[in-house]
Parts: sequence; C-alpha cells; structure tokens
Amino acid sequence: MTTAAKLNFSSGPATLPKQVRQAAAAAISDLDGSGIGILEHSHRGPEFAAVLARAEANVRAVASVPDNYAVLFVTGGATSHFTWIPRSFLGADQNADYCDTGVWAKKAAQAAAPFGNVHIACSSASEHYVRIPDTLVLSTTTQYLHFTSNNTVYGTQWQRMPSVAREVAVVCDASSDIFSQPIDVNRYAMIYAGAQKNLGPSGISLVIARREFLATARAGLPPLEDYQVYDRERSMHNTPNTFGIFMIAEVTNWILQQGGLEALGSRNRAKATVLYDFLDSSQMWRGVADPGSRSFMNVTFRGPDAATEDAFLAQAQAGGLEGLRGHRSVGGLRASIYNAFPAHGVERLVSELAAFEKRR
Ligand SMILES: *Cc1c(COP(=O)(O)O)cnc(C)c1O
Repeated sequence: MTTAAKLNFSSGPATLPKQVRQAAAAAISDLDGSGIGILEHSHRGPEFAAVLARAEANVRAVASVPDNYAVLFVTGGATSHFTWIPRSFLGADQNADYCDTGVWAKKAAQAAAPFGNVHIACSSASEHYVRIPDTLVLSTTTQYLHFTSNNTVYGTQWQRMPSVAREVAVVCDASSDIFSQPIDVNRYAMIYAGAQKNLGPSGISLVIARREFLATARAGLPPLEDYQVYDRERSMHNTPNTFGIFMIAEVTNWILQQGGLEALGSRNRAKATVLYDFLDSSQMWRGVADPGSRSFMNVTFRGPDAATEDAFLAQAQAGGLEGLRGHRSVGGLRASIYNAFPAHGVERLVSELAAFEKRR
C-alpha cells in the first residue's frame, strides 16, 4: 500500500488538498521563484510580505470579510483563545455565556471561569452531547456568547447560528467547520479556528474579529496575547509562523478555485449524506448524533459492540483507511470528512462498512 492510496479520516491534523501539498513541497525549496525556500525567508522581506498579503486577501475573499473586521494569524492553536478571549473581554464581575455542547466547548467555558462569571446558556451534557440544545438562556447582561459551531468529538454541528439579539457579541470556535459552508461574518464579533482541520497545519490559528469588539478589550494585556496588537502589527509583533501562513494562503486559494463556500458547502453536504444514508439503512452500524444535529464534518457512528468495531477498524486500516477510531473519550468510530476529504473516500468507507456487515 503506497501512502498515496491511503484515505486519511483523521480528525486533525487532517488531510490536505493534493495541490496544496505539492505547492508546499515546491515552496520549501523555492518560494515563488525567489531561489530561497519559505522556511528560510525573513518574515520582514518582500517575498514573505507577499505571502501574508495573499493569505489575508484570500481569507477576505473566501468569507466576504467586511473591512471593519480584522484578519489575524496567531501562533498557537484554538486552545490559546479559550484563555485569551475571557482575559481580554470578561471582567471579574461581568458575565459571559457559554454553550456547553461537547469536549471543546466545555474546555472553553472552564478556561474562562477564573476571569469572571461564566454562565452556561445551554448544555446537552445530560444527553451525552448527542445533540445541539434547542433553547438558550442568556444572562441579562453578557460580555459575549461563546459557542462551538462544530463539535469535533461528538459529531454534532449547529445547523444555524444560535439565535440571539443583534447586540449580543457572538464568539465562535469554528475550528472544525470553518470555511466548510457559506458564513455571514457580520453576525459575529469573533470567529476563531485552529488551522489543522480545514485550513492548514497545526500550531496556528485564524481569527476574524470585528474591530469595534476588539477595542473593548481590557488594557495592559501582554502584547502577544492582545488581539489589537496583532491587528496593528499585521500579525507580526514577533516572528509569525511563516510556513503556517503560507499554507493558509494555499488552502484558501484552493477554496476559491473550488468555487468558494457555496460550492464546498454543497459538496460537503453531499459527502456526509452518502454516509448518513448508509448508516440509517444499516442493521449493524448506527449514527451517534441526533439526526437534527448531525455534523457534516465529523460523522460519529457505532457498531453493535466494541469487539465488532475493533474488528472493522483493523480491517479498514489494513485496507488503507486511517484514523477512523473515535475520540478516546467517546469510543466508537468517527469519519472526519473535512473540505479536502474526497467524495470517493466516503464511498469507499461505505462499501467497506457494507461488505463487513454482509460477511457477519
Ligand atoms: C481541534 C479543536 C480545538 C483544539 O485546537 P488546538 O489547535 O489543539 O488548540 C478546539 N476546538 C475545536 C472545536 C477543535 O475541533
């Protein structure tokens, strides 16, 4: 089995478009014909300046980001923002609302607790997070509402934004579904995402934030944890993750070439539907998430028992299907089928699951 034939269902770091891998391989030796590789160029030189400008312009084009929003490339994963956001925007006697819809959502809420009053606006913890709650109860005055648009571990996804009054600042951890469908940036105060699911490599995150919201941050933050410093200094207060920014530029370029978010959104839905339709018709396999809350990025499912699941996983791996084991906290199986995951890979998984079922 060659690497090329493998299907990577990993939840993140995750599969990248082939053209992006190839562009990266070429740029490591020679960035844009400069004779020097991307890993070796000064971040203050014109070659990298062009990469950064490309990355920002592509992000703005992909999501129609309005001019009053900052686009920031921050070193560190989504988890960094779990702390930075409350430290910036939540004072000791203020409230922030959090939607508790899974592992990452809960971690975000826990990270905020030392800074102020964290109010859980909704939770599906008592239902093992198999669905997105129907109703939200917000604090009377709130600094922001934080939600996790796609719950990577449980395989649930908000089917629409939480409905709140327009004046509520909505902050979204979109790490595992950013740029997978059209988005109206205007409705958010801040959107952030670790890059390793839909945007590039790990260790870098993208932040899209309304400047008016950023301006409400407390004073005296450490510069590397101050979003306004990133905005003022174009993400270059210190040496940024130049390779990560290059990768985001390439991935967003690929997104534009695919026809943008409308095209990707319908493609992603079609991919996920193939798998969910199979699970709904199977006597052996069943989807974990409530049908009304299903994610089209991470499909969680189970067999009749752990031994059957293990047997399938071993066989799948031998056939080149990698990364299908569910998160350690929930078990079962999970197929992560982000933007770059090919439709034929989903069809292959369905045929393996069906063949396995028939044999048993
Ligand atoms: C993967 C993930 C994270 C964690 O990202 P890091 O880059 O490891 O910090 C946070 N939130 C969500 C929704 C994720 O899927």
